[in-house]
Parts: sequence; C-alpha cells; structure tokens
Amino acid sequence: MDRYVQQRRGCWIDGEERSGGDWVPVIDPATEQAFAAITVADRALVDEAVQGAVHAQESWKRVPAAERGALLHALGESIAGEQEALSSLMVEEVGKPLRAARAEVRSASRLCHYFAEEMLRLKGELLPGACRREQVLVVREPVGTVAAITPFNYPLSNLVCKLAPALAVGCTVVAKPDEHTSLTALLLARLAGAVGYPQGTVQVVTGPGPETGRFLVEHPLPRLVAFTGSAQVGREILALNAARVRKSVLELGGNCPAIVCEDADWAAVLPDLVEQTFKNSGQYCYRISRIYVARSLFEAFLDQFVKHAATLRLGPPGDPDTDLGPLNNPGVLARVRAQIEQLVNQGGRLLLDGRQAARPPLGYYLGPTVIDGARIDPEHTREEIFGPVVIISPVSGVAEAVARANATPYGLAAYWFGRDLGAALDHAGDLEVGSLWINRIHPAYSHAPFGGVKQSGLGREKSHFGLEEFTEPKTIYLSY
Ligand code: NAD
Repeated sequence: MDRYVQQRRGCWIDGEERSGGDWVPVIDPATEQAFAAITVADRALVDEAVQGAVHAQESWKRVPAAERGALLHALGESIAGEQEALSSLMVEEVGKPLRAARAEVRSASRLCHYFAEEMLRLKGELLPGACRREQVLVVREPVGTVAAITPFNYPLSNLVCKLAPALAVGCTVVAKPDEHTSLTALLLARLAGAVGYPQGTVQVVTGPGPETGRFLVEHPLPRLVAFTGSAQVGREILALNAARVRKSVLELGGNCPAIVCEDADWAAVLPDLVEQTFKNSGQYCYRISRIYVARSLFEAFLDQFVKHAATLRLGPPGDPDTDLGPLNNPGVLARVRAQIEQLVNQGGRLLLDGRQAARPPLGYYLGPTVIDGARIDPEHTREEIFGPVVIISPVSGVAEAVARANATPYGLAAYWFGRDLGAALDHAGDLEVGSLWINRIHPAYSHAPFGGVKQSGLGREKSHFGLEEFTEPKTIYLSY
C-alpha cells in the first residue's frame, strides 16, 4: 500500500507532472496488487494539454527537418539506453514476459530511427502550370496536433508508431495511454523531454477511456485522432470525428486466419505458428486465432500443434524463461474465459484447456487453449478472441479455406502455408486483409505498411504510408 501511495504519477503537460482530482490504481496482473496510481485527467486538464500542444505546434513545425530528425534519433537512442527501466515497467504493468518486453523496447527504438530517416524522403510534386512562368508546387505539411490513443498490449511500440512519425513531420502529440499501462507512456514522455523535445510537443493525459479518452476526442483542436484499440471504441471515435470532419487513423481488432494447404511444409513452420498464436498471451491484434487445415492433414496437424502448445511455460513475467505471463486485467480474462465456454457449448472440442494449466497462485493467468472447430458453425467464429485461444478446423480445399477466412467483420492479417506459390499469389487477391504472410512468419517491419481493411480499421502505420498519414498536401500555384 505504501508503495502504491508513493508511486502516484500525474499527467505530463508542458514538461511538468500535473495531477487531476481522482486517482486510479495500477495493478500488477501477476500479483493482483496495486503498485502505483495514475491521475484522472478531467476535461480542464485535457484542455490544458491540448492547448499546450497546439501552442507548441506553431514553432515545432518551423524547426528544420534535419533538426527534427536528429532529435528523433536521440529519442531512439534514449529508449534503447533505458531498455531495462522500460522493460521492467512493462513486466509490472502489462504482465509481459521480460524477453518480449525487451524486444518491444528494441522495436520502439528502431521505429524512431526509421522515421527520423524516412521523413527526409517525404516527397512533394512539381506540376506544370497552364501558362508560361507558372508552376504548381505540392508540398507536404504537418497535419497539426495529434490525439494518440493506445491500448494496453504494446504500450510502448503502439505509442511510438504514432509519436515518431508525428514528431518527425512537425506535429505535436497529446497521448492518452490505456489506464492499465500508462506508466510506460509517462516515462517515454520524460525521455523525450530529456533529449530536448520542446515543452508541449509530447503531452500525456491519463485516465479511463470513457472519461479522459472521450474528453480528448471531443476536444475541437486536435487535427487528427490516431487510435489503436477495439473496433467498438474505434466506431465511437469515428462518429465523433465525423461531426468535426476530422481525419482518423484507426488500427482496430483482428480475427486472423492461417491456411495450411495440403502441400504445406507445416512441420517446419509449426513452432512459428504456435508462437504467432500465443505470443503476449494472445493479446495482440494480428495473432492467429483460427487455423484452416487441409482435411488430409487435420489429425496429424492437430496432434503436433497441441504437443507444441503444451510445452509453453506459463509463469511470472519477470522470469526470463516464461513464455506466457498473465493476461493484463480481470476484464480481459473474464471475456476470454466466457468465449471458451461458449465455443465448447457450440460444439468445440477442447484439446488443450488453458483454464486447467499449472500456474502461479495469484494473477490473471490463462494457459494456451486449443479447440477443435470441426463441429463449430462458422457463424460462431466471427469475433476476435483477445487471449491465448485458437480454433483449428478442417477444410476441403483452398476455396473453402478462403471463404471461411473471410467470414469475419475483421480484415487485419492472414497467413498462408503451401508450396504452390502460384495458388498462394492467386488467392492473395481474394483474402480480405491488410497484410498476408506466405510460408514464413516474421515481424512486421518498420518500412512495410501495417493496417487493416473492413472493421480492422482505416489508414496505415509504419512505412512511408504511415508517415504520410500525419501530413496534408498543400497545393501552391506559383507565378513569376
Ligand atoms: P479499447 O478500445 O478498450 O481501449 C483502447 C484505448 O482506448 C485505451 O486507451 C482506452 O482507455 C481508450 N478508450 C476506451 N474507451 C474510449 C472512449 N470512449 N473514447 C476514447 N478512448 C477510449 O481496447 P482494448 O480492448 O483495451 O485493446 C485491445 C484491442 O486493441 C483489440 O481489439 C486489439 O485487436 C486492438 N489492437 C489493434 C492493433 C492494430 O494495430 N490494429 C494493435 C493492438 C491492439
């Protein structure tokens, strides 16, 4: 309790810590104990943060690109230098296993360095005019102050995906991290201040989504809302933005399928498939949650998949040997447990039941869960499962696999395994997703666009596409 009281963290506004009226405890999901508290920013505090960022925007957009790039490189170095502090925070507030937390820090650092360089390659256009001594310039301008709202699962890299390109092109940012995992964002803002970002360029307001998050989206001054989170909240944000005719970049949920064709070298990729299903305890958007396997391979595939999944170690996130830590909070745990229950009632056969896994006595743990979906109606597998659960079903050919893969409101990513590359590329056009991995699973690169179609969102992150989201083209008719 003492520690909880000692670690009270205010919002980060104009280079200072500021508290609101109320406090929300930050719970360690591995111990179920409060170890810190964050303040709840009310409408007035959110307004101060936004006004400060809008004021800072005026001078920040005039800072030469090379200087902005140098600062972003410095932030990338500072993030890497603070790897242990940032990772320990994520272990404690997310429940993320230490190895994964360190990997997230490295990825966030790389994103800063990438955008510091990519920003120098932003292109305009020079078009001919209709008469002599006239030309048309098209230049890219920063969109303005950005409201960046992020979820709990990747509290550092999800924020850096927005912060780095925004700062790179000359925008200022008001961040609203998830209320369960705000400490990481607060540390990041301090690091930005320490490397020399001017006051007001990086602001952080904390508090629950329906209060602080909503106040931020309802504020008239941000020019773009960059949001990562659930489709439900994404829709609410889009509706509020529609009223203001304001740009939104939305990275929402997924329900990602993997297709294993008859000619797949599936045994070779099995460990990667298992990892992409259960990493971060299944709490990430482009995890594999449904696998469609050629009927002739089905039994052998199921058997091997379950054997691999059963070797994953559930344990305290601070332990370097842990594969799966706890889920982040009791709400996610209850939701995923209810989904398991429902799938079983709808005909699913439990082959590995994560509810029965050996686990530490306290904490929101759930082990890897594998369900044979042969008898589940596809209608019941449309929704996202944000936890360590996978449904594996047999299919009679790739046409059925593709149809089942698309039978969801989401369209974030898909995975395809099969030796016939012609078939893979042919069906690539049929799969309704923003990203497709064929035959190998590797991380989403900084220089490759990431985002979804259908209800998985609008716009792209990473790459030059992700950078351009934070700019508006301006057309200048030049006569001389
Ligand atoms: P969530 O939508 O409940 O919360 C996300 C953020 O929005 C939090 O900061 C929350 O406080 C805030 N928020 C909640 N209600 C709000 C409101 N009314 N107005 C403004 N802000 C509000 O998301 P979650 O369930 O905690 O996160 C998991 C979801 O995020 C999953 O659906 C997952 O797939 C998705 N996600 C998507 C990506 C991607 O890149 N597509 C990446 C990570 C997570």
